[in-house]
Parts: sequence; structure tokens; C-alpha cells
Amino acid sequence: MTIDTLETKSPESKPAAEAADFSAVMEITNRPPIIFSRGEGSWLWDTGGRRYLDFIQGWAVNCLGHCPPVVARVLAEQSAQLINCSPAFYSAPMVDYSAALARASGLQRCFLANSGAEANEGAVKLARKWGAMHRGGAYEIITIEHGFHGRTLAMMSASGKTEWDALFEPKVQGFPRVPLNDLDAAAAAITDKTVAIMLEPIQGESGVWPATDTYLQGLRALTESHGILLILDEVQTGMARTGAMFGFEHSGIRADIMTLGKGIGAGAPMAALLAREAVSCFEPGDQGGTFNGNALMAAVGLAVLEALSAPGFLDRVNAASRHLRQGLEALSKTHGLGAVRGKGLLLALDLGTRTDAAKIVERGLANGLLLNGPRADSLRFMPALNVSDAEIDEMLAILDKVLA
Ligand SMILES: *Cc1c(COP(=O)(O)O)cnc(C)c1O
Repeated sequence: MTIDTLETKSPESKPAAEAADFSAVMEITNRPPIIFSRGEGSWLWDTGGRRYLDFIQGWAVNCLGHCPPVVARVLAEQSAQLINCSPAFYSAPMVDYSAALARASGLQRCFLANSGAEANEGAVKLARKWGAMHRGGAYEIITIEHGFHGRTLAMMSASGKTEWDALFEPKVQGFPRVPLNDLDAAAAAITDKTVAIMLEPIQGESGVWPATDTYLQGLRALTESHGILLILDEVQTGMARTGAMFGFEHSGIRADIMTLGKGIGAGAPMAALLAREAVSCFEPGDQGGTFNGNALMAAVGLAVLEALSAPGFLDRVNAASRHLRQGLEALSKTHGLGAVRGKGLLLALDLGTRTDAAKIVERGLANGLLLNGPRADSLRFMPALNVSDAEIDEMLAILDKVLA
């Protein structure tokens, strides 16, 4: 639905959601009848001129807020230079950005992808290829209950979302599941067919459930002793979201394969698959895709990584995290709610005995606040990483009112 179409439909009135015909949009989720037309920092405006404080930010995607000037500038400059020369050729942004991501992550090889699910598919393919070459054809990847890895067929099979168990059958085979933070269960699940264990450092979509540092360290030791791979899905926890550049840094471990997405392009669609040199076993023809590593997105990614790496940036994320956490804890006291969980600016508030997260989200929207309720008993907070304390206070004030 473009603004032009809207204007044709109702020439005498301003384009507004009330006049819009949404019937051509495939309804894959319950969208509110609002049309957003502009964003800046932590704020969004709809076509009626209403302003919203955004604590969803495209689901932890817009790490620098809406329309960061650095991204707008690089998009304009790079699109006048070179947009796409095909993944069959090198471009300077692709080469430079791959090197920068490799340096930042400590993993030596990088494949640029278009979505988190696609990066994870690549991770699974890489692990299966490695298993075929080095582990006698082992192909199973142990995954975690309630984990989330994306919406392709294989990633829906790898995700531990029970609602998906009976969807789009038959599933892709080879993803046994174990409970989070249960090292014995992971150890017991390893067989001759196991090639890797894959998990999120903090389960995001299921409601912000951190893997403990000791669990991650235990999984690293376990996978090393069995000669299998550790795959970290950092699509949500990467790119400074947890107060470190990558979620794994809190536990001091390093994975063999890691995926990135969401915040990597600050809103521009991109993702990445990173692997240790010894694991990077794709041969020509194994992996690829039309838009992989296109110069436009790679240039944006490089600029975003530089912005997140600027001196003091992570300190500010951690200061904002403390401010948000303290405010949520105070609200929890006032309203008799539960604990705050998560790290950095990926936090959730447990609603205690309340199970009306959907209602709170709806009332928040009516009061100009965009919030996410990943479960009936939890709210999730994923603001821009450059959110101000004043904006956090404003969100807390609206939430206080909504909770009452
Ligand atoms: C969002 C998400 C994905 C899927 O990313 P898409 O870009 O939507 O395909 C995968 N893993 C995790 C941990 C995510 O949060």
C-alpha cells in the first residue's frame, strides 16, 4: 500500500489508516490498523501525525534507532557507486566488511546473507558438510527447547517452539532438543550422529531466557571433548545488544560457527555467517545466493559496526541498561510484578501472576508506546541502543499508567 494509492482512493482527505485498503497484504500477523510513515531515533510517526515511542525497534533490529544519519548517508553514497556486482565477484565493501566482522568476532571466515534464518541455514549446512568430511557422516544438531532460529522449513524444524511442532509437516530431520541450562541433558543427547550443538546465548523470541555462563562454558568443554561443533545463533544477541559486541563475550567462550542478523544493518536487511578457519569447509557450489554480500548492504554493515565500536558506545548501552532495569524493578515493586531478566538492552519484565501482556501491549499502543509481549506473563524491551535516559523515563511513565 503506497501513499499514492491511498491518495487516489481518498483525494479530499489526508492519507490515513481509516481510508486504507489492506486487502492485498498477505496477513501473516495481526497488525494494528496504523500506517507508519516516518521514524527518527526512538520515535515513529503514523500517517495521521501521531507519535509513538518505540521500544520494539523492528524486534531489536534498529540498533541505532530509526533512520540513523550514518546509514542514510552510506546508503546514498554507496548506491551512487555500486549496488550489486553479483556474489560471483568481489566488491570492496564485501571484502572490507567481511574482514572487519572476522576481526571483531575472532572467527576467520565470513559469508554475508540476507536474513537470520538464511545465515542459520548456512550454519547447519556448514556443520553437516564438516560432519560428512570429519565425523563419519554425523549430521544431527542438538538444539534447545523453546529456541528460535527463523522461519524457513529447516529453521522451523530446528526451533523449539511447541506451537510449530505440527506445522508444515514433514519436518526437516536431525534436530534433537534438550532443555536450556541442563548440561547433563546435552551430554546425554550426544551420539555418533551428533555433529554440533546450536543455541542462542539468550533465547530472545521465547521471552528473554539467558543461557548461564557456566552452561555455555560447559557446552564449550563438552563439544571440544567430543570433537563436535558449537554453533551460536547471535542473530538477536549480537551487535552490542547485550552490552558486549557479541553475547558470547559475557561467558568468555568462542563458538566454531556464529550467525548474526537483526541489528547488523541497523534496519537495512542483512545477516552473516562466521566460522573458524578449520570449520570453513564449503566448496564452490555448496553455498550462495543472488544478493549475498552485495556492496550496498556490506557498506551499511561496515558503517554500523564502526558506529557500535566507537569509544564509549558499549558503556552507554550498559548505562542505559542499568537505568531501564532499575526503572522496571521499581515498577515491579509498585505493581507487585516479578523479576527483570536479560542483559544489556534485551530485557524482559516478568508480570508475576498477571497474564495480560497482550492487553498491556494494546493499551501501550493506545498511549503511544510500542512494546512487545513475547509471552502472556512477560514484556520484552528492545529499544534503540542509543536510547536516552529521558526516553526510558517516558516509557516507564506510560507503562506505569498502563499497568494501573
Ligand atoms: C530473529 C531471529 C532469527 C531469524 O532472523 P530472520 O532475519 O527473521 O530470518 C533467528 N535467530 C534468532 C535468535 C532470532 O532472534
